[in-house]
Amino acid sequence: MPATILDGNKIAAEIRGEVAASVKSMSAAGIRPGLAVVLVGNNPASEIYVRGKVKSCEEVGIYSEQHTPSASVTTEELLELVADLNRRDEIDGILVQLPLPAQVDSKKVLQAVDPAKDVDGFHPMNVGFLSTQRPGLVPCTPAGIMEMLERSHIKIAGQEAVVVGRSDIVGKPMAMLLLNANATVTFCHSKTRDLPAVCRRADILVAAIGRAGMITRDFVRPGATVIDVGMNRVTDPAEFAALFAGNAKREEGFRTKGSTLVGDVHPEVAEIAGAITPVPGGVGPLTIAMLMSNTVKAAKMRRGNQVVELSRA
Ligand code: NDP
Repeated sequence: MPATILDGNKIAAEIRGEVAASVKSMSAAGIRPGLAVVLVGNNPASEIYVRGKVKSCEEVGIYSEQHTPSASVTTEELLELVADLNRRDEIDGILVQLPLPAQVDSKKVLQAVDPAKDVDGFHPMNVGFLSTQRPGLVPCTPAGIMEMLERSHIKIAGQEAVVVGRSDIVGKPMAMLLLNANATVTFCHSKTRDLPAVCRRADILVAAIGRAGMITRDFVRPGATVIDVGMNRVTDPAEFAALFAGNAKREEGFRTKGSTLVGDVHPEVAEIAGAITPVPGGVGPLTIAMLMSNTVKAAKMRRGNQVVELSRA
């Protein structure tokens, strides 16, 4: 039986609707949540991401502003900008779009963001809150995946979860959230021995690797839930054919655009998984929806309201 498709666009729309309702009721009380996005230089991918974030803010009624220092900005200049945003009361969330140029000390800049405004959840204080199950701001991609699992009624407690990837942005917080939700969690990475065998233990398999189609059917126990975080642009026709030969819709898109967006999970996995996220239209839309949710959460927490919707910590 083909897998149930976990529709990220639909769940993200639900979350945005809830966020918009919260923004509306806060606005009635004279509070408008605000997000400041810092975009350094002219990285085309970052520009697209930031445009999506700003548009999403407009849709849900969050105030947003962009700061665009040039690619030659220094660490000190960025620290000054962050300090200014930290001071401004109307700014509830500060997002520094990564990657930063090589001359900038990224860790220093991220650590300078006020943890109460750290809507990406990357500050060590928020990392600590997550690992000790205290209220805080949780990284958007893994928080979105938890929303997807729960809203799709996928059982987590007591299940075997395997997370492939251990980045600070996705893999580590993902594993921590699953652990906090009482899954039995295994981390995998590039040094893991017999990766397919470890992955086959999973009731819930999360792939956050950055390698197109790496998770093939022999990594997946039939019936497992498979979450594909990967976003890889494939341009090589041979690589494309190995993934999508016979898929007329993809072939047409590839012919016209010269590329296609592929996850870390091979399309053949949809034949045996119980449930699976598509790429595009799976995890990606949830990431932005959770950024909106985190901005509202930060606005409430900064004002002492501990009753926070969509709280994960
Ligand atoms: P990183 O490059 O920071 O981490 C990749 C992880 O995968 C590392 O832990 C690495 O192991 C592991 N890995 C790499 N190769 C292998 C292998 N052959 N076998 C097992 N493990 C391997 O990536 P990110 O976590 O930032 O992102 C992962 C993917 O998710 C990317 O495709 C990215 O584009 C996508 N992404 C998607 C988002 C969305 O909204 N949908 C948001 C963020 C990311 P090791 O630590 O040993 O090097």
